[in-house]
Amino acid sequence: MMVEKPVSVGIDIGGGSTKIGLVEPDGNIIVNEILKLTEIDAPEDLLDAYINKIKSWKEQYRDFQIQAIGVGVPGHVINDHRATDICNLPFLNRFPLADYLEENLQLPVWIENDATYAGVGEYRYGSGQQSERFLLATLGTGIGLTFIEHGRIHATGNGTLGDIGHMIIDRNLTFQCRKGCWGCIESVASGVAISRDAKQLAQKYPESYLGKVFERENRDPTVRHIIEGSFEGDPVCIGKLNETADWLGLWACNVVQIFAPHRFAFGGGWSAAGQGFIDKLYQRAKSVGIEEYYNQVTFVQATKGNLAGILGAASFAFDHAGNTRA
Ligand SMILES: [Zn+2]
Repeated sequence: MMVEKPVSVGIDIGGGSTKIGLVEPDGNIIVNEILKLTEIDAPEDLLDAYINKIKSWKEQYRDFQIQAIGVGVPGHVINDHRATDICNLPFLNRFPLADYLEENLQLPVWIENDATYAGVGEYRYGSGQQSERFLLATLGTGIGLTFIEHGRIHATGNGTLGDIGHMIIDRNLTFQCRKGCWGCIESVASGVAISRDAKQLAQKYPESYLGKVFERENRDPTVRHIIEGSFEGDPVCIGKLNETADWLGLWACNVVQIFAPHRFAFGGGWSAAGQGFIDKLYQRAKSVGIEEYYNQVTFVQATKGNLAGILGAASFAFDHAGNTRA
């Protein structure tokens, strides 16, 4: 008789799409897909898409036995890891997400914030392995932070490290962020802020790399274009990249002096700028901070990319359901 191998499902809910994967306890991803789920505004429609996918995998991968489901949500975690609130998908707010999945699939569900699960994924399988004090910053549309201390998730409230992407850093309070605060790190360095500034730069310097992107593609330039332009030596892009490194370095200094990490990894859109960019953050943080912290910490690139979330979700839910990893 065939012995079925234990696996778990990781779900990483994003704004316009969801990543979902079937993962073995050693971090091997058997299959993963991106479900494009635009124009959905009812929680049942979204969750039914996940349920159908998991049911189809049960049929397709008969050598494996699913043990648990981990769900990463882009919002706060409430009701003892059973639901979300203040979510980037507002229709999910306070919906009994775990109950709904458990009733339909008869599998235990565990919910964490999406950045938290990305941190777990990097800690267990990527840039954070063997680090006793590991920080992961996700530099994407927003700015998230996760702290894994001796293998345990460290949360201060709402299943997150508060809203540490909204640490106020610009005393001139130049910009307001999407959540409403003024002068926070997201207001100057998030993907949203960079797009805002890149559009202005494109219009001000039509001959620059950004100006040509704006004209050629007829859309607003993004973080990716700033990085590409910098690699091509465009002075406007290099200037913006350095300015962003400056802001992020100041933020990183605050963060380092709160959490005293041994390793600090950076993922998300800006990590594509490479180790050279991350070294700029380190130098900036060190230049203004307390030296001792910088003797014990290394700044590195995250290595699991956009798979960190499903890896963390699947493995954490697997453990939480009482399974033992070989
Ligand atoms: Zn803010």
